[in-house]
Amino acid sequence: MDEPNIVVVIIDAFRPDHLSMFGYGKETDANLKRIAKESVLFRNQFSVSNATAPAVTSILSGLLPSSHGVIHQFPYTKPEEFEKVEKIGFWLPSYLKDRGYETMAFDWISFWFEKGFDYYKESEEEIEGLFPPTKMTVDLAISKIKKAKKPFFALLHLWDTHFPFPNTPYKGGGPNEADKILADIKDEKQRAYVNNRMNAAKLYSVQDVTNKYDETIKIIDQEVGRLYDFLKSENLLENTILVILGDHGDIIHEHGIYFSHCGLFDGSTRAPMIIKLPGVKGKETSEMVQNIDIVPTILEFLSEKTAPVFDGKSLIPLINTGAKVRDRVFLFDGLANDVRAVRTGNKKLIVAKDSFCNLCKSSHHHGTVEYDLSKDPEETKDIFSSDSELLKLMK
Ligand SMILES: [Zn+2]
Repeated sequence: MDEPNIVVVIIDAFRPDHLSMFGYGKETDANLKRIAKESVLFRNQFSVSNATAPAVTSILSGLLPSSHGVIHQFPYTKPEEFEKVEKIGFWLPSYLKDRGYETMAFDWISFWFEKGFDYYKESEEEIEGLFPPTKMTVDLAISKIKKAKKPFFALLHLWDTHFPFPNTPYKGGGPNEADKILADIKDEKQRAYVNNRMNAAKLYSVQDVTNKYDETIKIIDQEVGRLYDFLKSENLLENTILVILGDHGDIIHEHGIYFSHCGLFDGSTRAPMIIKLPGVKGKETSEMVQNIDIVPTILEFLSEKTAPVFDGKSLIPLINTGAKVRDRVFLFDGLANDVRAVRTGNKKLIVAKDSFCNLCKSSHHHGTVEYDLSKDPEETKDIFSSDSELLKLMK
């Protein structure tokens, strides 16, 4: 068989519990559900980070932020992080280009993300406003894929799910609860930040923000469905590895955080993932996996024997036999100065050496805390003691 095409669709700030296939009451995900049925659905996928730059660097390298160097989101990325990522040990776009793939990205972030792509452009035209509309990104991807030589690698980054959702027409209309929300925030600077967020979106209640987030998910769902049907109609799907995932989660209202993906709580770091491999369909797993596992999975599928050692692990054994591939994930706060976490199936340890959050100028974690997620999924009761098993994992 010819080398498979590879399509990776990254959906920004995309949390699983707003999808009916993860138990949500509204059907926001008719197309994603249909795609998941013909693929492998990962119910327990964690990003390495709560922020885009470190997360996408990990998705494309199979390396943890501590290995590739990018800990912090723009504009908080430090000069030494830029320097370290220039020497990254593995970069999927460059690898695939060397292997003969035509490589193209429909993205927004530039910097080192352009490396290895034959085509890298935010859009054909200037983008008006904050984020490129998903429909435009998918149109552009379809037009380029039609002309691409085989095999090709296409990376799409869909932004509409990111606050303040500028491309979604929903206008809200619920009661104005701004005063109540602001009164709930103790830190003055964070209060100003949240006030700005509400004004940017022109939405003033948790319910209105929730409704708009769900509307944007429906738009993304429809557009991903359109891309999928295009690949099918062109007879490309049968020989394409398709990966669809959120780069990180999002928080509408939990832990005193409003309308941003701050902190290393599950809300900010857990994201849905679907992988379609040629010849595999109708599977799902609740085993814990992480976005650094994508590259090793693709390389095992391509029968690559000489790949470097990744932090991630191939998910092929899990997909084929259900075998557990990892019992822990490491998490790096891309917005705070120095906050890291380790999460197992039922526990999470968060170590905040410097918890200052550059985004909202507040802080969301204090010192070292541990949560028993089996009894306390809301992550509210600290059970840390100095003989913590997770503290040993962290070291
Ligand atoms: Zn924050």
